[in-house]
Amino acid sequence: MRTSLLAAFLAFALSAPAVAQVVDPRIEEILGDVSPERLHEYLSTLTGYETRHSLSFSDRPGFGVLPARQYILETMQGFSDRLDVAFDCYEVEPQGRIPEQAELCNVVATLPGRSERRVFVSGHYDTVARIEASDPASGGGGGGFDWSVYDNPAPGANDDGSGTVLTMEAARVLAQSGLDFDATLVFVAFVAEEEGLVGASLMASRAEREGWVIDAMFNNDIIGNSLGGNGILDSRTLRVFSEDPMDSPSRQLARFIRRQGAAYMPGHEVRLIAREDRFGRGGDHTAFNRRGFAGVRFSESRENYARQHTAADTLGGVDFEYLARNTRVNAAGVATIAMAPPAPDVIGPRGPMLGRGETGYHADMRWQRSPGATSYRVVWREAWTPDWEHEVVVGDVDHFVLENISIDDYVFGVAAIGPGGHESLVSAYVRPPRAGSDIREVGRD
Ligand SMILES: [Zn+2]
Repeated sequence: MRTSLLAAFLAFALSAPAVAQVVDPRIEEILGDVSPERLHEYLSTLTGYETRHSLSFSDRPGFGVLPARQYILETMQGFSDRLDVAFDCYEVEPQGRIPEQAELCNVVATLPGRSERRVFVSGHYDTVARIEASDPASGGGGGGFDWSVYDNPAPGANDDGSGTVLTMEAARVLAQSGLDFDATLVFVAFVAEEEGLVGASLMASRAEREGWVIDAMFNNDIIGNSLGGNGILDSRTLRVFSEDPMDSPSRQLARFIRRQGAAYMPGHEVRLIAREDRFGRGGDHTAFNRRGFAGVRFSESRENYARQHTAADTLGGVDFEYLARNTRVNAAGVATIAMAPPAPDVIGPRGPMLGRGETGYHADMRWQRSPGATSYRVVWREAWTPDWEHEVVVGDVDHFVLENISIDDYVFGVAAIGPGGHESLVSAYVRPPRAGSDIREVGRD
């Protein structure tokens, strides 16, 4: 068995172009352009509005959500003529944590690509803070959240000013790169995350209704603090959360981000966390996951819970060099997906196009060729293992056989590689979850 596997390997290794993980100097240049000083400038302006509570509409100049969203809009408009920047507004009826009718607006910057495929980078610009017991607004009570009070101090420097300015800076460096991307890049500062993912849910519903092709959503929330509330400093790792199951499109996206992060940002480790979000908490990617789109959450490794949702979530709690490195991890992943061909389609009318081959003991994979691809990377791993263990690059083919590898014991996938060496997300040979149903299909045998 070993011999024939080795033979299969050698045969294809000899015929395939030697494409390892490509590091594109143009992407490295984009990453080098990410500026901690600019991140600081955006964030000091945003925190200067005192609160960005989604309902903090105020006549006071320089206060609240209105000048904040206007600043995000105008700043991104100033980055490049190629960016199409606009508010994405919704009339929202009273509900849950929104006591009165309001017009709520996401801020969206779009960098058009050659294809319909879209890749999202996001953070939420709204903030919230508990009322301090000492604040007259607490009415002499013990303090806490009061969803009818909109104007108490809520600087939200790290939650989620950090994700917002990361998104803005990613928009700048990618738009100013002058590169033409195959995928359309969409940079979104979401509103009303704190009221229950309201801005993200409204946009995700629209995406579902209008049939947008979304390859990936990179959601950044609480991403700029390197000093944990327990005193532990970690400015060299970050976390990427992805929803179950093990081969969900979101989990493939997470693996991809770690791979690209290792190539472009060695020494800054992406830690993959096999859960949708932090324990008992949520974020805007969830609104997209629920509608079947691949999306992950980026968060710092060490949080300071004492600052979150309080008046103490200030600029001093953000490490801008760390935030810049996390911005670069985002930009490397986004640029690679956007420059690569689309992921190959491995699901046929009867399910995953994976069989046992002529002998009945092989792994026989077929896929639809991706437009623009010049080769493919086939990956596999034991089914009890979290990340791909083996790979082989094959040529411009749509069929590959691994001899004497049981399709029961391993998981298989394939990624498309373009002429510049940029590779797509992996498409795994697993049955896709049935949309709108929690009932799993169970075969009889
Ligand atoms: Zn948040």
